[in-house]
Amino acid sequence: LSTFAKMADQNKERTFIMVKPDGVQRGLVGEIMKRFENRGYKLVACKMCTPTKAHLEEHYRDLKSKGFFAGLIEYMSSGPVVAMVWEGKEAVKMGRMMLGATNPLQSNPGTIRGDFCIDVGRNICHGSDSVESGKRESEHWFKDGEIQEWSPAQSKWVYE
Ligand code: GDP
Ligand code: MG
Repeated sequence: LSTFAKMADQNKERTFIMVKPDGVQRGLVGEIMKRFENRGYKLVACKMCTPTKAHLEEHYRDLKSKGFFAGLIEYMSSGPVVAMVWEGKEAVKMGRMMLGATNPLQSNPGTIRGDFCIDVGRNICHGSDSVESGKRESEHWFKDGEIQEWSPAQSKWVYE
């Protein structure tokens, strides 16, 4: 790969971000999307849907043994969510940083959770915690044809 191709490849990391039912109910879809868009990340997939419990149990399979699991599945299946895939340099790590800590009481002001919520069980958004889960979750929520390849006009002004 040429240096240019390698650099372009670095900018293709993907993270799965979701506005949870409470975020949708509270009218925060635009606010959350705006932060990723303004930062320079590229939206490559987006849809509104009401996930089934089975779909959510697979999404959150690592948390099955937790006491809050049943409540989490109930909450997450209670209404529509907005599922998205965002692409760009270090999208997973930056996505987590932009969301803030899992428990909003520990999220810094300036983060999404730190600005808009209080309870860990109503923390309005989801973001993948690793590059591998970014890939797994993107594929769990979106079929092949639902993830778009496109070149934003601003790319050369966002990346060196
Ligand atoms: P995340 O990756 O920051 O979303 O955190 P986790 O993967 O650890 O947990 C997934 C989701 O489960 C969180 O976003 C919360 O909505 C919920 N959750 C995590 N810990 C707790 C808890 O202690 N109590 C309750 N009620 N919900 C929790
Ligand atoms: Mg998690």
